[in-house]
Amino acid sequence: MRAPLIAGNWKMNGSLELVESFAETLSHTELPAGVELALMVPFPYLSVARARLPKAMAIGAQTLSDKSDGAYTGEVSGSMLSDLGMQMVLVGHSERRTLFGEDDAAVLARVQAALSAGLKPVLCLGETLEERDAEQTEAVVLGQLEAVMDALMPEQRRTLVLAYEPVWAIGTGRTATPEQAQQVHAAIRARLAQYDAGLAESMQILYGGSMKPDNAAELLAQADIDGGLIGGASLKVDDFLAICQSAG
Ligand code: 13P
Repeated sequence: MRAPLIAGNWKMNGSLELVESFAETLSHTELPAGVELALMVPFPYLSVARARLPKAMAIGAQTLSDKSDGAYTGEVSGSMLSDLGMQMVLVGHSERRTLFGEDDAAVLARVQAALSAGLKPVLCLGETLEERDAEQTEAVVLGQLEAVMDALMPEQRRTLVLAYEPVWAIGTGRTATPEQAQQVHAAIRARLAQYDAGLAESMQILYGGSMKPDNAAELLAQADIDGGLIGGASLKVDDFLAICQSAG
């Protein structure tokens, strides 16, 4: 059985004060049993988030370099993240793909860098509105999946978490319907089964894109939706916790 995973992605938002207010609230909140939790914060807050937030919550970064070390001004390596106690890292978020030019090869290189550093990559997949309108959704999403999975060894594949985030639903308030999301999640799982039936059974596939307290339960109730990757609503601890509760 797959445990639900609720992961927040602060993107380039938040502050030291916000980390402290999460720490304060979470210190006297009972976290839902059986739900895995994670929070992806900006690089400068990783260390303090790791120190102040409950150990039961994984802390992660939002990207990493594809290089292991060297003269790459401004970059952050996977081993630096591991060094700080990080367990996860987002890779291939649509904002990285579209705003920072990360193509499938760049995404694969970062997944490999994360695996080398002992981090769990959360590989993000998703189609644009134009692609959906052109009925290319599954071709795009499965293509992004294969660009990574084809290059990995079977035991490496098992380390990943996937996140389906339709680009048109991110930060727009326009969420995919539970049926739309389930359809793509099922297609992803069917493709995973072609690699290995056990992989398809065990891999967590999260939905992301305007997930909020009022729509989380029906999305999370879908057979192939194993959790959420939450942007805007992860900046408010009460909203984040409400979504976590609905996964329990
Ligand atoms: P929103 O929840 O703000 O739509 O963001 C989703 C997302 O991109 C999470 O990675």
